[in-house]
Amino acid sequence: MQIQENLQQIKQEIPGNVKIVAISKTKPNEDIIEAYEAGQRIFGENKAQELIAKQPDLPEDIEWHFVGHLQTNKVKYLAPFVKMIHSVDKLKLLKEVNKRAKSENRVIDCLLQFHIAEEESKFGLDLEEAKDLINSDVFPQLENVRITGVMGMATFTEDEKQIRKEFKMLKNTFNFLKSGYFASEDHFREISMGMTNDYQIAIEEGATIVRIGSAIFGERNY
Ligand SMILES: *Cc1c(COP(=O)(O)O)cnc(C)c1O
Repeated sequence: MQIQENLQQIKQEIPGNVKIVAISKTKPNEDIIEAYEAGQRIFGENKAQELIAKQPDLPEDIEWHFVGHLQTNKVKYLAPFVKMIHSVDKLKLLKEVNKRAKSENRVIDCLLQFHIAEEESKFGLDLEEAKDLINSDVFPQLENVRITGVMGMATFTEDEKQIRKEFKMLKNTFNFLKSGYFASEDHFREISMGMTNDYQIAIEEGATIVRIGSAIFGERNY
């Protein structure tokens, strides 16, 4: 019952137009079902193998989001069902998603992941790399992917000012891309930022999607 209560509490705290991706990594399917029965439909995982193992046993109307670093050789396993990939950080990856989506007769939503944190370890594009990707010759031909916005992960820190600064940066990046490249595309409207420790700040700074794991499912044991 705890999962349902957690979800209800979070939903009360955040505006209705902000989507919650329930990050179920490391958690068993029974936990996912508990959240599902509480009305949650959008779930996210960060490891391809784990998602592939779980998905067939879970309700078909779950909207699966992939939020972790994605290797091109895993894309084919996700392409039949994944709704959105939050972690596109290379043209090569986007081309592979397009190719596999095409062979499934699907269009897969993708976010461009930006590196906004201080930690080097985190993945993501910078603005120049994003511009190069968008300006590349093949980009307009990728008809089976739809770029619906941006994603970023803030530094893991208690320093609220730092986190806020990084989220502002992502929001500015979104605005820049929107006005420069996607002004006529209504579906380019998502800003995926904010996790358990910083989703309130993210929403204040303009998040349209928050990715929440431990506040819903409890601490993870690795
Ligand atoms: C694990 C994870 C989350 C959720 O983390 P919590 O702190 O448990 O909310 C969000 N986004 C990504 C990319 C993750 O890997």
